[in-house]
Amino acid sequence: MDTKLSFTTKVVKELLSHNFSVLLYNKDNIDGYGGWFSTDVGEEEFVVAMKHHMSFEILLHEYCHFLQWKYDRQLWEKSNLTYDVLFDWISFPSLKYSADIKDCDYTNEQLDQSLHDILEIEHDCEKRAIKLATNNPIEDFDLDKYKRAVNAYLWSYHLNRELRQRPKNPIYTPRVLENMSNQFYSLDYYLDKNNLSEQCRLALLQEYEKDSSCP
Ligand SMILES: [Zn+2]
Repeated sequence: MDTKLSFTTKVVKELLSHNFSVLLYNKDNIDGYGGWFSTDVGEEEFVVAMKHHMSFEILLHEYCHFLQWKYDRQLWEKSNLTYDVLFDWISFPSLKYSADIKDCDYTNEQLDQSLHDILEIEHDCEKRAIKLATNNPIEDFDLDKYKRAVNAYLWSYHLNRELRQRPKNPIYTPRVLENMSNQFYSLDYYLDKNNLSEQCRLALLQEYEKDSSCP
């Protein structure tokens, strides 16, 4: 059985051997994110905020994006085409002076396609993470909690699309997680917003409302 440390060491070695930079920050977030995995040319990097209260879960998740890149290049390349549309639309107009953002006048079809493609790649990523943690148990890794966080994470994209905003507060709080299912469902289930129960929706919505860090 791996410990979190032995698993992390293996991940770092594997990423370095594939020429990715590995940036493990001694912080609880980086620009509001817990981490990311990028294959953009010149920015091939694996980044995790190691002081985040779920840093190991984030590391596992980002590692599974690396596995997608390694073993399912077609899916990875496909998602890269549309992944940013929803994020850019949400960030606009704050990004409107960026040279990369020509305009954010996306059609509903483009936004829905982006939401679909994000859920597709993130669901596949979580499927890999859950399979990995099930087949190769990691000491002190709470799979029940991980699945609850997966539900919060995947459903949050529907709210991002609906409200045109990202959550103002962290969504992996004990209050949110206790309202989430500990079951991992099929992609079709998460694509259909009707499957988002009122209880889950209300639990998540609270984190989109008031910024608890600003009294
Ligand atoms: Zn992801």
